[in-house]
Amino acid sequence: MPGTEDSTTELGEIENVRVVVRVRPLSSKEFDVHCKNIIDVDALNAEITIENPNAAQGEPPKVFSFDAVFDTDSTQVDIYNETARPIVDKVLQGYNGTIFAYGQTGTGKTYTMSGAKTSPQARGIIPNTFAHIFGHIAKADENQKFLVRATYLEIYNEEVRDLLGKDQNTRLEVKERPDIGVFVKDLSGYVVNNADDLDRIMSLGNKNRVVGATAMNVSSSRSHAIFTITVESSQIGEDGEQHVKMGKLHLVDLAGSERQSKTKATGQRLREATKINLSLSTLGNVISALVDGQSSHVPYRNSKLTRLLQDSLGGNSKTLMCANISPADINYDETISTLRYANRAKNIKNHARINEDPKDALLRQFQVEIEQLRKQLEENGAELSESEDESEDSEESRETKRDKKARRRRSQMMSVAELEDKDTDSTEKVDKAERDDKSPVDKDVIELKKTQSEKEALREKMQNLQNKILVGGENLLEKAEAQEQLLAAAAVELEQRKSREEQLKKAIKAKEAERIDIEEKYSSLQEEAAGKTKKLARVYTMLMSVKAELSDLQQEHQREMEGLLEGVRGIGRELQLQNLIVNHYIPVQYQTMIKRYVHWNEDIGEWQLKCVAYTGNNMRKAQTASPAGNNKDTMPPDMSNIYLSYNIGIDNTFVQPKKVRSRSGVPRPTTAHRRTPH
Ligand code: ADP
Ligand code: MG
Repeated sequence: MPGTEDSTTELGEIENVRVVVRVRPLSSKEFDVHCKNIIDVDALNAEITIENPNAAQGEPPKVFSFDAVFDTDSTQVDIYNETARPIVDKVLQGYNGTIFAYGQTGTGKTYTMSGAKTSPQARGIIPNTFAHIFGHIAKADENQKFLVRATYLEIYNEEVRDLLGKDQNTRLEVKERPDIGVFVKDLSGYVVNNADDLDRIMSLGNKNRVVGATAMNVSSSRSHAIFTITVESSQIGEDGEQHVKMGKLHLVDLAGSERQSKTKATGQRLREATKINLSLSTLGNVISALVDGQSSHVPYRNSKLTRLLQDSLGGNSKTLMCANISPADINYDETISTLRYANRAKNIKNHARINEDPKDALLRQFQVEIEQLRKQLEENGAELSESEDESEDSEESRETKRDKKARRRRSQMMSVAELEDKDTDSTEKVDKAERDDKSPVDKDVIELKKTQSEKEALREKMQNLQNKILVGGENLLEKAEAQEQLLAAAAVELEQRKSREEQLKKAIKAKEAERIDIEEKYSSLQEEAAGKTKKLARVYTMLMSVKAELSDLQQEHQREMEGLLEGVRGIGRELQLQNLIVNHYIPVQYQTMIKRYVHWNEDIGEWQLKCVAYTGNNMRKAQTASPAGNNKDTMPPDMSNIYLSYNIGIDNTFVQPKKVRSRSGVPRPTTAHRRTPH
């Protein structure tokens, strides 16, 4: 059994990534071509046994053990309760959580994560988390306030697409800031009030996923989809202060893990092919680096997926990986590779902790703004609705509290403004739009005095913000109630079944121990010989199994090497072509100069030219804008739509740059090598 020991350190609770395997039933297609089932599931011992259909003589089947394994008849609800429920419970307490579905295309990743809408029993992990989260809020103490928001994105060919965005052609950037970490710029997020809201968001995203895939002429099996739910909750602590906890849950449907066919792709197609699974192979490399414990460098930065999910692997998160496999013999190679991958992931150690008062929490910012709006209304003699509670503190303590709050509000508003200026955590885009027409708040105060209607507007804004915050105990379940009950009932049943299984397991263990005892009581030499022969046979089987494993691994390694080499050769060819073009246009001296002045920016993954503002057309632009240039006669002509190229004279010296008017007349973006010679 894998070690899942729990211990607590300064970094948080140390816990291994939990890994489970789910086997889907034989598909009708596999059934039609008479595929053989090569998988045996031992749910009791959490073991999967796989038989090689082309096994050499004497090669025993391979056995892998996990945290849990699910046979073809496992239900969606069981999967939820046994795998996702503990993680979602932690997210509700303020921990981060991640659930990955990994495996070959067609093995049930999307079925496990999203499921089908046909019946409540067919729904997958994602919709079940909706019912679970809002069920929790409905049962919570009324002093607890909640804010739930969601985002949904897709990574294809190392490009990030917002599945909830208005324009599906926009590609988003991955950015990083020291205080809030890695985030996707301009990603749209939605504040949700109930499970149905989340359901609608998921359906919209899924629809965009399919549409996008068709438009790009690819299947969604080559993209990674990340659905993220952020749950913030606030409660008055023992110190009388509000404390916000924030749990982020990533639900990840990974791209199919099968090897891309080795097509003789070139140019654009080659670049795509090498990028498509870059995220997935980097994920594998990250796992290897984390597990072997020898490499000090974990290559998170090498792909978008691993950058965005850095915390999920070896970081601050409770993480589960569900490896999906097919039972059919024709998928042996992919299945064994999935089992190996999953088996390695078990050894990753994470250190999860509760996120208290994080910088990017919105709940308190909203509450502070509501308080401020309320105060403005109050000061302007507006009547407040009865539902709004007012503290009954003495005049003096109210004063100091107000001061404190105002100070805190200012600093928080600043951080909100900062957040918006830099357009960073765009998960609050929806709210941002609303806030834009509201701030600065102080301005409102002046205007408020002018007209009554503006007072109304203020009140409406406050109401708007208030509606976003959910109060514990509110019943928001609606349709989700049935789903939540279904999950809860199944959880109880599961608990009973688990304890029965546990007893059974103990009984079996005892019997086995007994049997070993008996075996070892040799009554005569003859029996001992027989026993030794048996032992020898067992050891021989072990030897064969290790040998087979070794040759399997060698073959897999070889295949991987060949794939990589092919990629390297393709990239080499591509590089030669680029060099040919560059050499044709830029003399070697200038190339050397450019090389001297560029540096690699690790943060954004781009080459950057030093002092680019002082080069070529940028300088010309600046000169044009200077006051001296105002005189029409002395103003240099507009050269933004003219190419400058290098020219070598007869005596090998450079002559004036040659001007070439671009045919379209459309100004082209200036690039480093065009600017350098001036
Ligand atoms: P993937 O996302 O891994 O490519 P899908 O989730 O789309 O695979 O599953 C492929 C097909 O198999 C779908 O038609 C799905 O309904 C079916 N399927 C997958 N897992 C199961 C399961 N556990 N029980 C029944 N049908 C399943
Ligand atoms: Mg899928």
